[in-house]
Amino acid sequence: MKVRLFEIFTSVEGEGILYGTKTLFVRLAGCPFKCFYCDTKEALPMQSGTEYEIGEAEKLIEKSLEKNTYKVNFTGGDPLVQAEAVSELAKFVQKKKIPTYLESSCFDSGKFSQVLPYIDYVKIEFKTPESEYVDRIHYSKLLENELQCLELAAGSGKVTYIKIVVSSRTELEQFRGLVKAIFGIVSGAKIAGFIIQPTYGVAEPDLKKLLEFYDAVYPHYDGVRIVPQLHKFIGAP
Ligand code: SF4
Repeated sequence: MKVRLFEIFTSVEGEGILYGTKTLFVRLAGCPFKCFYCDTKEALPMQSGTEYEIGEAEKLIEKSLEKNTYKVNFTGGDPLVQAEAVSELAKFVQKKKIPTYLESSCFDSGKFSQVLPYIDYVKIEFKTPESEYVDRIHYSKLLENELQCLELAAGSGKVTYIKIVVSSRTELEQFRGLVKAIFGIVSGAKIAGFIIQPTYGVAEPDLKKLLEFYDAVYPHYDGVRIVPQLHKFIGAP
């Protein structure tokens, strides 16, 4: 089996409920989508990065692991594009007693269920229609998959949290609809966090708008947090 990796590096986790932790990032190459705020555009082509045999990639991970690493984050691109390879690599990391973390847009619940057994921390990212991830015709199919992934992760007992990126273009009514759909699937007791992440450097939402999004989530889940990407502020990759 082969895997195409874009890069592998240690840095500070800049997003979500584990921000601030020393993390080994394994960035998989390839993502077929087109979010307008994507900050890893160079890793989107399927042929970006370098191809390795799985055994070579495992050795690379082993060599790259620094002391006191809190977790290994499989990111991208979108790691689900190479679900089989990610399962193998995550299994390898878990054997070393280091927690694994999946950062995906959850576009395919079938691929997601293949990887889930080997992941300890699951971020379920929900895209909003104006993210330009997919066109509006295909959006309902994406949402269906994201909700299925949420149900699978929360039902498996894995540490599961939700992230939604918002921008000045995000429409409040659509955001409210998304929140309603999410809490139609899980109760607040089943999730470890709900992160509203403002875009950085492009179509940034103002404070008024951010608080409107916060208020839309709070009645369902008072643990909601607005958390910008930490790594952008400390010059980390
Ligand atoms: S899903 Fe992630 S990697 Fe793919 S285009 Fe959107 S932000 Fe970029």
